[in-house]
Formats: sequence, structure tokens, C-alpha cells
Amino acid sequence: WKNSPPHLRALIEAARAYGGLPFTVYEDERVSYDANFRAIAALAAHLAALGVGKGDRVALAMRNLPEWPVAFFAVVTLGAIVVPLNAWWTGAELAYGLADSGAGVLIADERRHQCLAAHYADLPGLRHVLVTRAAAPLEGAHALEEVIGNPRDYATLPDRPLPAAEIAPDDAAGIFYTSGTTGAPKGALGTHRNMATNILSGGFAAARTCLRRGETPPEPTPRSMLLVIPLFHVTASSAVMMGAIATGSTLVFMRKWEPVEAMAIIEREKVTMTGGVPTIAWQLLEHPERGRFDLSSLESIAYGGAPAAPELVRRIHAEFGALPGSGWGMTETMATVTTHSGEDYLNRPESCGPPVATADLKIMDEDGTRELPSGEIGELWAKGPMIVNGYWNNAAATVATFVDGWVRTGDIARIDEEGFCFIVDRAKDIVIRGGENIYSSEVENVLYVHPAVTDCALIGIPHRTLGEEPVAVVHLAPGSTASEHELQAWVGRHLAAFKVPVAIRFVAETLPRNANGKILKRDLKGLFAEEAAA
Ligand code: ATP
Ligand code: MG
Repeated sequence: WKNSPPHLRALIEAARAYGGLPFTVYEDERVSYDANFRAIAALAAHLAALGVGKGDRVALAMRNLPEWPVAFFAVVTLGAIVVPLNAWWTGAELAYGLADSGAGVLIADERRHQCLAAHYADLPGLRHVLVTRAAAPLEGAHALEEVIGNPRDYATLPDRPLPAAEIAPDDAAGIFYTSGTTGAPKGALGTHRNMATNILSGGFAAARTCLRRGETPPEPTPRSMLLVIPLFHVTASSAVMMGAIATGSTLVFMRKWEPVEAMAIIEREKVTMTGGVPTIAWQLLEHPERGRFDLSSLESIAYGGAPAAPELVRRIHAEFGALPGSGWGMTETMATVTTHSGEDYLNRPESCGPPVATADLKIMDEDGTRELPSGEIGELWAKGPMIVNGYWNNAAATVATFVDGWVRTGDIARIDEEGFCFIVDRAKDIVIRGGENIYSSEVENVLYVHPAVTDCALIGIPHRTLGEEPVAVVHLAPGSTASEHELQAWVGRHLAAFKVPVAIRFVAETLPRNANGKILKRDLKGLFAEEAAA
């Protein structure tokens, strides 16, 4: 790898050497690295015969299945561009992704195919549809199994090389849509280099701790990772999946996230690592049936993508005996830019860690004209080989977001003298009350420490003279009670008076989240706006 250009085709060819080691496990389907490669080569040959070549877009619309990585690598090894669509989108949203990317081929699971059926007629550019695991006869589509068979049989596919293709590290490899937390999803156009660089980030945090202590970092060893976040987000595909491939590790999939099922799988498969987003870790920690399972194989629980309460970090360590890990990244960075784990994380649970070896960070003032000294709060900018050059089909957003190889992240942060980065808030989530900035995550972290609170969000509600006022939306743990006054007093004991929410709104359900587990604050704000108008 060291002497070859960083592209995904080289990575998956090299990974074939792991042979019989399991690459994916889904229920009773086990696909080895060798079998996975055979399926990739068969599908790539089929796609090439359909005319798919360099720069063509092939969309994936599938939940996590062994077919997902097969399809992903079959497309990118041809030099074509893979477009992983969000499987939780509606038919109309999926159709938008197909039209926006101009995909000529779609590889879908049956559910997504059904969602899209009514939209195919409006997508003249879509020439071929391959559907996996179809129970009913297919109309206007072909079964993926006709090309590569079932995952159980991948090992019996012929041994053949990948079709010829010229690929350079900076060729486009994938269009990933952002989560749509702050607005309409944007298609980040990632290159082979952007995605392949992630293999250098995995394990880096642990190695850094060893080096600082003067110890030799351990050789990367194969692990078993329970992947509960969807592969269509870069955290799962570009970070976890690439990291797994780099170390010959196993990805264990589940049909859908369910904590009891997850604990049963951890016990059965001796899973060493899981996580994804902080919510997952909370749900495992607080589950009343946790004691029924042997979870001692868990070595680490790592997550990113959303702020994690410091309380969570301490509890993972204390109650699981596992190392907590976190990181910061965005779709535009094809995943990991900072990583944090072990001792460093326990000592600085508010930080998302220092940048990985290949990345640079800086803090800029509001206008983006002046770099701020360490310790000061401003907008986080990031640079490195993992950062995409721009958005697909969205020149205006590209110009506004990417400047001289730096991405303006829209996150407000500070970096301390030792280089540890602290995400303070999203610029769009800051509540400005009469000119005073209230960072929503600061207030949320205080609320999370209160024993009765399991889910909360601080949002700004319009106010005639102050501009905005902070209101907390809170979901209490089952069986717990806390009054509005009590929670306000709790925040007041820890933070300045102007940060205390003017109202606490209790909700019976956990808060609305997108597929990546992020709270949709704009939905909550919308709800309040409607109420105020009514
Ligand atoms: P959109 O850009 O469409 O509004 P999004 O920003 O949520 O959606 P993603 O690219 O999935 O889409 O998420 C990146 C964002 O997630 C970051 O900009 C940051 O706000 C948040 N994030 C990621 N990691 C962390 C972290 N460790 N701590 C706090 N926030 C994080
Ligand atoms: Mg974003």
C-alpha cells in the first residue's frame, strides 16, 4: 500500500489476501474476503457489459446487507462513481437522488425498488435496475442474484480478475449526500484518495497514546465490528468499512437497530467494537436487560457525527470496561478528521480529539478572513487528503464551502494549546439571546447529567426584543420525574443565568432524529413556530 497510489481498487485487491477470514456476517450469511472479491469481480464484469465505465454514476439504494460492499466496490473498481442513496428516504427523495446524480444504473433492495416503482417513468436516464432479495417477480428490473448468486454462494463464483480500468487517486469515486440536518442534502463528491485515506486514521489514536508513552504501537489485529449505522453514510462506509478492510476485520450487520438483538449478537459473535452514534451507546448502557448478556468481548465503543455528553464517556469506561472513542468528521471530509480514544478521551471528554496525522485544522473568525489564536472560539476549517473538492451539481454551495483546499465546516469550535479540538456548537444551532451567545450543546450537556433526563435539545425561539430565547425540549427516562423549575434550577447551578432555558418542554417521545441519529432541531423549531402561530 505504501508505494501504491491510494485508490479503492488497489485496496480491495490487496484485501483479497485475507482469504477465508470473514468480511461480512449477516444473520447466518458469512462472506469471506475471498468470496467477497469473487462477487465484486462478477458484478463489475456485468456492469462493464452493461456499458458502465469511467465517470458513469451507479446508484445504491439498500439497507446494510452483504450486497452493499459488493456493489460499492464493483462500481468504483470500474472507475465509475457510486451514489449511495439514503435507504430511509421516501420514493420521491430517492428519485431526487437518482435524477440529481444522473445515475444510469440502480442497484436496490426490494423495499427501495418498491418505493421507487412509481417514479421510474420520470427517470429516463435510468437504464438498468438490479434488485436484490426480491420475493415477488420483478417488473422492469433484474434480480441481482442472477448475476452473482446469494451471499452464501459467493465462494463458488469463478476466480477472475477485475475488468480493466485506469484509475487515478484523484478520480471521482462516490457521491454521498449530507444528512440534511440543516437544510436540503448536498451531494459531496469524493475521490478515491479522499476515501482510501481513512485507512490511515483507524487505530491512529491508540498508536498516538503508545508513542507518547514511549511504547511501540501494537500491530493492527482483526476485529469484529457490529455495524449498526447505515453504510450510506460516510462514517460507516468510508471510515468503519475501510478501516475494517485495512485490518482484515469483520463487519457484522443487523436487520435493524434494536438493543436487545444487538446485545445477543455481541455475545454470539464476540464483537469487539461497536458504536456509531452516541445514541446507540446510551441505549446499550441504560438497557434494563443488559445484565442478561455476556458483553465482555467489547473492547471499544466509538462514535462520532454528533456531540456526545462527557457523562457518556465516563460511563462507557466504568460500566462496560470498554474504551470509549469518538471523532469528528462530516460527509464533506469523507469521515474522520479528528479521533479521540482511551486515556486522552477520559481526561478530556469534552474534546473530539486532535486531528489525524494527515489533517490540518484552524479556527477562523466569522467572516473567514482572520485565523484566531488557540483557545479562541470561531468557525472550524479543515484541510487534508480526505476533504472533497466540492459538491456534485451545486456550484453555489461549492464556492461558499470550499476555499483553497479548506472546508468551512459550519461548526463552531476551539483548539487548545495541545491541539485538542472542542466542538462548541453548529453555527446554525447557536441561540443568540440579546447578543449573548448560548451554545446549545453546553446547556444540553448539563441537562444530560441530570438523572431524569435521557434526551434533550436546546433550541432558540424567536423573541421580539431579544431576538431569540433558549427553550429546552426534554424527554425524561421512563419512571423518572422532574419539574420545569427543578431542571431550570439545575442548569442555573452550573451555568450563567442567561443560559437557563426560559421554558422546558417535556415530550413523551424521544426527539426527532434523522437516519444518522442526529436531532432535527429545525423540525423542533418548526413545531414551536406552528404553535406560536396557532
Ligand atoms: P447537512 O450538512 O445536510 O445539514 P449534517 O451536517 O448533519 O447535514 P453530516 O455530514 O452527516 O451532515 O454531519 C456532519 C456534522 O455532524 C458536522 O458538521 C458536525 O456538526 C456534526 N458532528 C460530527 N462529528 C461531531 C462530533 N464529534 N461532535 C459534534 N458534532 C459532530
Ligand atoms: Mg453539514
